[in-house]
Amino acid sequence: MTPFEAVNHFFQRAAVIDRLSDEAIAVLSGTFRELRVQIAVRCEGGARNVYYGYRVQHNAARGPYKGGIRFHPDADLEEVRALASLMTWKTALVDVPFGGAKGGVQVDATNMSEVDLERITRRYTEQIGHIIGPTRDIPAPDMNTNAQTMSWILDQYGRRYGHTLGIVTGKPVALGGSLGREQATGRGCVIVLDEAARDLDLGEPGEISVAIQGFGNVGSWAAETAIEHGYRVVAVSDIRGGIYQPDGLDIAAVRAHLAESGSVVGMLGTEPVTNEELLELDVDVLIPAALGEVIDHDNADRIRARIVIEGANHPVTPVADEILNGRGVTVVPDILANAGGVTVSYFEWVQNSQDMRWDLETVNARLEAKLRTAYQQCRQFQDEHVDDAKAWGGERLSLREAAFALAVDRVTEAARLRGYV
Ligand code: GLU
Repeated sequence: MTPFEAVNHFFQRAAVIDRLSDEAIAVLSGTFRELRVQIAVRCEGGARNVYYGYRVQHNAARGPYKGGIRFHPDADLEEVRALASLMTWKTALVDVPFGGAKGGVQVDATNMSEVDLERITRRYTEQIGHIIGPTRDIPAPDMNTNAQTMSWILDQYGRRYGHTLGIVTGKPVALGGSLGREQATGRGCVIVLDEAARDLDLGEPGEISVAIQGFGNVGSWAAETAIEHGYRVVAVSDIRGGIYQPDGLDIAAVRAHLAESGSVVGMLGTEPVTNEELLELDVDVLIPAALGEVIDHDNADRIRARIVIEGANHPVTPVADEILNGRGVTVVPDILANAGGVTVSYFEWVQNSQDMRWDLETVNARLEAKLRTAYQQCRQFQDEHVDDAKAWGGERLSLREAAFALAVDRVTEAARLRGYV
């Protein structure tokens, strides 16, 4: 199953619950537009390198296309399609007035100079400039892109089409970015963790252990926020491997070690674990916050956490999802768990269009309200649709089924009103 087929598998289940017509299924299971561009750049050493980039626009029934841009060798068309469709469901679930899109450049950005990254970003922006815009399609950061990347996109787009802050979100605060945007995805993971832990009666945060795969933007801020909320973060990792300390990690010390050595690995007073071992640790909560499809039919049986919070996009394959559900593991799906990022992206876009800046407390309070509401709506949907679950032989819908059904229903309604389905 390709990544896009996997997302559509979840969409199809929602389509049954929502009793969608065949016409609606045909429209919503496809993408609106897919652009593939060649990025030929002269790199620092003098070589002319050729890369390929994509921008996939999945659906804009509820508002302008919205979604990040990632730089990664695996970011091919199929992967970007999957990520674009996830954005449509994510924005609908947290009820921000956007559709779904995603961009990708197939490049290994991890060992590339800043100068080359800037050239690639500017060339890519030129190539996709005609289909993006502040009321058409608004990019944002994703894997291996950040506020600096957004600044180059903002500048390059502005040179040709006129300067406007609303063209990208996830900008530096000095260039119209929102306070709290950088932390938002990780912070959101912990807001939904609070809800899920309360639901399952896991006890006080101090008694709850958390392992986090990934220490990039999502993982590191999830770790920091989890500690702020009183949880015990016992393991984190990056591409080189992970570290484990059952008594709890000091995240400031992990950050310092990372800054010094380039990796979290080897930090004093911690045990080394591989990325695979980290997933299988005996913890209460697991937050996969790195790559997709890390929990599959091979290891789903060995996951010991009671709650999985999907910080990454599609970290759990459909087969693994069924195994985890069958074992009673609560999975908070990506379209809810990591929706904090796009939620604050929306706040940024609103602030830009109003020429205003909200203070950090306002941003965080509104983020929290949005995510708690979305979580509660999923729980309520579960309670109201027990019959659908019984028809499939279960006791109640999973949070993912509820989240997708809610999102698909909202998008279908907007598409119907526009006359698309
Ligand atoms: N790339 C992030 C995501 O997958 C954020 C997208 C955005 O802010 O538009 O949700």
